[in-house]
Amino acid sequence: MPVPAALTLVPTPIGNLEDITLRAIRVLGEVDLILCEDTRTSGRLLQHLQIKKPLQAYHLHNEHAVGPRLLERLAQGERMALVSDAGTPGISDPGFLLVRECLARGLAVECLPGPTALVPALLKSGFGAERFAFEGFLPVKKGRQTRLQELARETRTLIFYESPHRIVKTLNQLAEVFGPDRPASVSRELTKLFEETLTAPLAELAATLAARPVIKGEIVLVVEGAKIERPNREQTRDNYADRENDDTPEQQSDDDDTLA
Ligand code: SAM
Repeated sequence: MPVPAALTLVPTPIGNLEDITLRAIRVLGEVDLILCEDTRTSGRLLQHLQIKKPLQAYHLHNEHAVGPRLLERLAQGERMALVSDAGTPGISDPGFLLVRECLARGLAVECLPGPTALVPALLKSGFGAERFAFEGFLPVKKGRQTRLQELARETRTLIFYESPHRIVKTLNQLAEVFGPDRPASVSRELTKLFEETLTAPLAELAATLAARPVIKGEIVLVVEGAKIERPNREQTRDNYADRENDDTPEQQSDDDDTLA
């Protein structure tokens, strides 16, 4: 068995309580202390899992204040798990700071693989998943337009977290900056009873959602990457052929694998 890490990041379900791993349950049952974004929310999950452990609040508003004491305790040998309200801690949630400080002190950090909202939304969009950029929440005011402009020519699939009351505004702004026809996908209430995914051009998605009397639930927005004009396939092959003529034999065989 590997030595248990000082700090383990433990992903928790984003809706469906079945989406917790056996390893997550074991670790939560083994640690000395569970750091939670909200002790009531995590308390309910732990009760469901029949795990009784001391809980301590660890969130955006106290992470600087409680960090030093937690690090002392971790250095003395206590084992802690960090959970957020839902999904993977550190993904648009607190966690980064504590991880960085643990690593700086040579304290082992483990992160269990598990639920996070961005992955199912990306894959349900049907857009390219070989390369993607997770943007989390867009800036609400300052820097928002600049960020959108910067992203307009991004060719990787883009993933955003968004709130239900801002989604129509965001879709309209994206349609303005990226163009109304850019394909996009809105995944709402993933893994929950009223889960839905709508995929359509940005302007159409904005109109569809704007027509609803109310939009509820949690949302991930996925936008297809920009299609940048590329030389046609024949031209690309010619370019490779030209380059290969300059390569060493070893490099040439690597390139052959790539082109196969
Ligand atoms: N740590 C979480 C994760 O790993 O996905 C994200 C936490 S962030 C504070 C909350 C945002 O995640 C929501 O506003 C929404 O954009 C997204 N989200 C979380 N659960 C979701 C769900 N069940 N369906 C759709 N989006 C969800």
